[in-house]
This record gives sequence, structure tokens and C-alpha cells, in this order.
Amino acid sequence: MREDPLPDADPNEKFYEGDNQYRMSGQALEFKQLNIHAWEAFDKGQDIHMQAAPSQAELLFRNYKVIKEKLKSKTKDTIMEKYGNAATEEEIPMELLLGQSERQVEYDRAGRVIKGMETSLPKSKYEEDVFINNHTSVWGSWWKDHQWGYKCCKQTIRNSYCTGAAGIEAAEAATDLMKANIARKATSEGGFFIEFAWILGINALNAPAPAEEKKLATWGTEVPEDLVLDEKLLTEALKKEDERRREEKDERKRKYNVRWNDEVTAEEMEAYRMKKVHHDDPMKDFLN
Ligand SMILES: [Zn+2]
Repeated sequence: MREDPLPDADPNEKFYEGDNQYRMSGQALEFKQLNIHAWEAFDKGQDIHMQAAPSQAELLFRNYKVIKEKLKSKTKDTIMEKYGNAATEEEIPMELLLGQSERQVEYDRAGRVIKGMETSLPKSKYEEDVFINNHTSVWGSWWKDHQWGYKCCKQTIRNSYCTGAAGIEAAEAATDLMKANIARKATSEGGFFIEFAWILGINALNAPAPAEEKKLATWGTEVPEDLVLDEKLLTEALKKEDERRREEKDERKRKYNVRWNDEVTAEEMEAYRMKKVHHDDPMKDFLN
């Protein structure tokens, strides 16, 4: 916890003021300054290392402080010698002594701060605010169902491209559809699924009645047990299948723009199976 958890509490009664308080005060700060000095001196070519030779580093830091103070006072002296010191002549007005800044703070009528006292977020050593793949927010700005994602489009795939508001809408539509499907399954299969749906937060019993589904046999693998074929439709389908085969044999008749109809009915599937030539059929050469 970096910030003070109880900023409004009486400071005399507090026993913990946030980690920042300890980082920014006392010996922690001294140690930090010592480290920074070691790094900077090393960068400038001095043979100094905080971990390898800590005593030397500290001694050099002390020397450095003394030298720095001397240099400061010397500069001050030369400047005052040249220009004089206006500060000694008269007292500085209180308004200046109490400090002015460019910072604008807004208060409400009760004296509470509305705007202007926001703390700046500390930067880390890692890359920050890098937007990839057209996203307008960073990776990790969104979290849902134990997954991280992008806030701008609510996607949880790191390499995804931003889909924006349209993507959010599509995703919501997809989840709604999935919920509706589960609810429908639940109503049709009873107890267990109703419970399952209830866990997912779907009220299966109150779900809108799904529209009667057209029975399709698109993949041809699942044949329902209660399949009843319409004779009339079947003869039609057989005719169509013959036509299709003829067309396939004569390539010249094939059109440029072929439009596929992928809604295969059970009758069409049956016609296809009836007309299909099996490769291991010993009588296949005598067909037709
Ligand atoms: Zn995005």
C-alpha cells in the first residue's frame, strides 16, 4: 500500500502512513541518495561501486557533499559580490515567503478540494502507454472472468486488432446467443441443464421460446432416429441429384457464377446417398 490508507485520520493516532511515507523519509532517503550518487559517479567514469565497495562509496559521497556545499557558497559569494544582495536590505513580503505556485486548485463551497490535487502516477522502468494494433488502451486495462484484455474493445486476446465499439456489440450479441442456446437446451433436456443454466445466471424457465428450428442435414453425419422422409420431396431431390451429376460430367454447362446453397434437407441427403457410387461396389460398372 503506497498511499496513506487513512489520510483524514488524526496523525497523532496513526501507526501507519503508507509505504511512501517510509520511502521518502529518514535513512531510506539517505540510502537512496547514496545509491544515486554512486550510479552517477560511475557513469561519469569514477571507479565507484555501491555493492562492491560500500565504504568507499559512502566516503566519496560525503566528500562530494562537502565539495558541493563549498562550490555553492562560492558561487553565491561571487554573485553577491558582483550584483549585491537585495534580500538583506528589506524583509521579503509574507505572500512570497508563504510560497506561490502555478498550480491551480479548485474548492467547493464547503472547502473541499474538487480539482487540482491529483497525484501523478509514478513511472516504472517498463514501457508505458504503448498502444499496439490500433488499440486506444493498453493491454491490461480490461479484466473480466479472470482474463486480461483491452478496455477499448473488451477483447481478451493480446495480439488482436482493435475492433472498437462494433467489436463490443458483436461480442455481446454472441454471448446473448450462447445464453439463449443454453437456455433452450435446458428447457428441452430438463433438470440438470436447468440447474446448469441457473449457475450461469440464465433463467431457463423464463427464457423466450425459441423459434422452431428448420431440420437440416448439412453435415450428413447425424441421422436422427425419428427421421421421416417425405416421398414427394424425395423424388424431387432424386431428380435434382441426377441433374447435378449430369452437369458435373459436362463441364461446358457449368456456369461462371455458381451459387451454393448450403441448406441441405434430409431428403436431399438421402437422394445423395442413394445415388452415390461406392468405390468398393463390385457392380458399380453396371450401374446406369
Ligand atoms: Zn481495442
